[in-house]
Amino acid sequence: MTFEQMWQSVLAEIELQISRANFITWFKNTGVLDKKDGVITVYVPNNFSKEWLENKYNKHVLRALRNIDSDIKEVNYIIRTENENANIMSGIKKGKIDRAVFEEQMEFEELEINQETNLNPRYTFKNFIVGPSNELAHAAAMAVVHHPGTKYNPLFIYGGTGLGKTHLVQAVGNEIIKLDKTKKVKYASSEKFVSEVVAAIRNQSMEELKNNYRKNDILIIDDIQFIAGKEKCQEEFVNTFNSLYENNKQIILSSDRPPKSISAVEERVRSRWEGGMIADIGYPEFETRVAILKAKLQEKNCSLSDEVVSYVANNIQKNIRELEGALNRVIAASRLTGGVITIAEVEKILSQIITGPKKTINFKHLIKVVSDFYDISEKDLLTRCRKKEIVKPRQIAMYLLRNELKNSFPYIGSKLGGRDHTTVIHACAKIEKEIHSDKNLVDEINLIKEKLYSTA
Ligand code: ADP
Ligand code: MG
Repeated sequence: MTFEQMWQSVLAEIELQISRANFITWFKNTGVLDKKDGVITVYVPNNFSKEWLENKYNKHVLRALRNIDSDIKEVNYIIRTENENANIMSGIKKGKIDRAVFEEQMEFEELEINQETNLNPRYTFKNFIVGPSNELAHAAAMAVVHHPGTKYNPLFIYGGTGLGKTHLVQAVGNEIIKLDKTKKVKYASSEKFVSEVVAAIRNQSMEELKNNYRKNDILIIDDIQFIAGKEKCQEEFVNTFNSLYENNKQIILSSDRPPKSISAVEERVRSRWEGGMIADIGYPEFETRVAILKAKLQEKNCSLSDEVVSYVANNIQKNIRELEGALNRVIAASRLTGGVITIAEVEKILSQIITGPKKTINFKHLIKVVSDFYDISEKDLLTRCRKKEIVKPRQIAMYLLRNELKNSFPYIGSKLGGRDHTTVIHACAKIEKEIHSDKNLVDEINLIKEKLYSTA
């Protein structure tokens, strides 16, 4: 394997783990220069990148490199100027050039985000594949496009990570503007909403913020679950919501779980969320996954054999972002090998995605993910605290420790409040049983697992 191939593979892996914007910012114009005695030298374009890679992403880089070559012990980052890079670039094969083109394209997309609406034009109905897992959400979204503010208000879309919520809610915004240019649309992630509320409180510019949100015909707030536990934001949300709603303005919300599973929101907030149409997006079926892969291939002007497409679709089932990431890797690899790729090679590429994160979860991480999910403190989960709202999260923590980490019953009992092992057995059996009759519980546990492995 050449340095070039090695770095491509590292980039493909990191791309899956961090946001697109960060990926482009920090990994553009980087590459491997040398390897000696287990030390890899990576070149970066400037001091800024160097600092970030050393301090923030070194772990990612090292892990990805070790997946390829377990002898690697250390990474050394050095700065190379544009000119030096240009010389290197001219000397290398097509792979690097493709990579550069690919990065530029991504950067172009980032730049294209509309300043006024915050919408990314990439997300449209045209490139949203519809299947049984998302047809209800899709139909509701289309209804909102044609009857904004009147048909389903609010529209609440929920589903696991990477299943197309952001794509769908942004497609609604883009389509509405396409049909009527005078419509004012605003898209905000709930993190952005929260940080704007906080800034407005600090700068005493609440009026401005209110106007900014209330002047819209369509307000889209993505990942609304993040306002749980933030009272001032909920208050502002309710006020904004009421003002828009009374004026027949459309509100669209997305979340990783249904309203009733979002703990730490006030009842009046929850009832607003539940007042319109709630639609979920589930895991895509095999045919939908194949259709998505084929559409992406067409978009990128690439082709892969049906066998390879089916193989990828069969092996990545629960996250469309990962499905795309896997496809990008396979495309990159097939380019390096001149357009053909064997199933064995695809298997190797995918095995890094599929089995990669499983290895690294531990007790501490699991407890953190469960307590974050239910918005309770780790201490409550770990002590004998008998508060009612802690009981279920603790049982779920026990269940996951048993099933995901294979911890013994006595061990789990001793770590979670010094309980007897029979208490743990009882808790696990209870969850096991409820899973059969309670679809929401299954969704909840799947979500927690997703968070567990995606943040490991
Ligand atoms: P979420 O917001 O639910 O985490 P995203 O909307 O960001 O997920 O989707 C993840 C990726 O998968 C995006 O690149 C998106 O374009 C793509 N995607 C999701 N659903 C579909 C679909 N039905 N058809 C085509 N692409 C999809
Ligand atoms: Mg999203």
